[in-house]
Amino acid sequence: MTLTKKAEARPTAASWGLAARGGAPWEYAPAPEATDHIQIRPEYGLFIDNAFLPAKPRKTFTVINPATEEPLARVAHASKADVNRAVRAARRAYETTWSRLPGRERAKYLYRIARILQERSREFAVVETMNSGKPIKESRDVDVPLAAAHFFYYAGWADKLDYVFPGRTPHSLGVAAQIIPWNFPLLMLAWKIAPALASGNTVILKPASTTPLTAYLFADVVRQAELPPGVVNIITGPGEIGMELVRHPDVNKVAFTGSTAVGKMIGRAVAGTNKKLTLELGGKAANIVFDDAPLDQAIEGIINGIYFNQGEVCCAGSRLFVQESVYEPLLDKLKARLSTLRVGDPLDKNTDVGAINSATQLAKVQELVDSGVAEGAEIFQPDCELPTRGFFFRPTLFTGVSQSHRIAQEEIFGPVLSVLTFRTPEEAIEKANNTPYGLSAGVWTEKGSRIFKMVAAMKAGVVWANTFNRFDPTSPFGGYKESGYGREGGLHGLTAYLSLDAGS
Ligand code: NDP
Repeated sequence: MTLTKKAEARPTAASWGLAARGGAPWEYAPAPEATDHIQIRPEYGLFIDNAFLPAKPRKTFTVINPATEEPLARVAHASKADVNRAVRAARRAYETTWSRLPGRERAKYLYRIARILQERSREFAVVETMNSGKPIKESRDVDVPLAAAHFFYYAGWADKLDYVFPGRTPHSLGVAAQIIPWNFPLLMLAWKIAPALASGNTVILKPASTTPLTAYLFADVVRQAELPPGVVNIITGPGEIGMELVRHPDVNKVAFTGSTAVGKMIGRAVAGTNKKLTLELGGKAANIVFDDAPLDQAIEGIINGIYFNQGEVCCAGSRLFVQESVYEPLLDKLKARLSTLRVGDPLDKNTDVGAINSATQLAKVQELVDSGVAEGAEIFQPDCELPTRGFFFRPTLFTGVSQSHRIAQEEIFGPVLSVLTFRTPEEAIEKANNTPYGLSAGVWTEKGSRIFKMVAAMKAGVVWANTFNRFDPTSPFGGYKESGYGREGGLHGLTAYLSLDAGS
């Protein structure tokens, strides 16, 4: 919906968190999702062998709601000894039960998990939003359904592994250490755990310290699905605990999603071992709009590309390249659309842009935006009212951006778009590929031949045509260059958890 009339009054306290949108005379009524059915425990222990156990020594840290800065729970702070306990549990489960089960039996557990996730979807969506700051409409319509879809999809593969690699015999790897970030806590858990279990491995998952709550809710699901103890273990603690897990000699596979800096450290730690490694790291995607593109459709794709999940998305379309002949009309439409985004309470069903995940991340976004202004780019932000508490940032757009600006080079991981222009397809390709990253890209044009040319030329693991940020469990996802290596999703995602012998 587009609101165009001029404002007569500022929003009242009753419209907490709603954007003023540069002047609508009326506001959406608040539509907060209920939280009274949600039970967040005051404290969560480490999930090892299907039990919640205190860390040894007993130590905890507080997890907060980034939209209110209020504490949600205390979670266990694992020690090196706890890492050993979790790996021992996962090894035992691997040797004694999980690797011995026929694929069709493993599939039953995965189907069960998928169905429970669907049954408890509202609970998962609310907890995800409270803990991460993402809008409820995204956790409800994207994160949770896609997480369930991953379990359904990989359940389907579990009993077919022997038939899908002609002339090769697949074997599970053993114990998988999985480290995930805070931007899609439940979805990244599903991307990691579903293929690992389908292919016969057991896992230890370390969620990000700011967003462990849906992982611990998932631990409940593991028990509800009656998975054998030790098949899924979840431990929380700082980055060093993640590194202990990576370095543990009894771990066979490491899967990491997060920053390129930590990805490189993990790559070094794993080098020279037999551990299999997949790294899904940062990105600086180009979203390229040609002059024959349907502009209104492209506007929605641009908005979704960079403001979805507050821009905290590794494949976000953070660099917009517009063909010069349509630059002005496109920019006018984009600014008008930006002004309609509703920023505020993530639990409100009308909210488009929620809270940034942490004070640290908010400071990083602010610092990079300041650098854009200092380097001479022109900033545009809609005149919207931000909540007085919580980590919020206005959706932001920069024009007059040059290739060398930091905002065109570095991953901001926030609701900030850099707009650049081009004249020819060749110039667009050269500029789009001028980045250390190579995770994703988007192309907007009505010509099929141009789509094929651009897709082939773009150094990006995923290229969307006339859409953006589309995900499906059947489709592999991953990057080139500093965006990492290996693929998650689809059949490719299974091979990351298998070794393939020649012949049988
Ligand atoms: P990190 O890469 O630090 O965090 C991702 C995960 O790795 C978390 O579980 C974290 O644990 C863990 N971790 C941190 N340090 C280590 C380590 N030395 N060894 C093993 N595991 C470790 O990302 P940040 O949260 O610091 O975000 C920084 C920037 O990274 C963002 O601004 C964004 O640009 C990028 N990023 C990219 C993501 C992506 O999807 N590609 C996701 C998240 C961030 P803990 O939370 O306890 O620190």
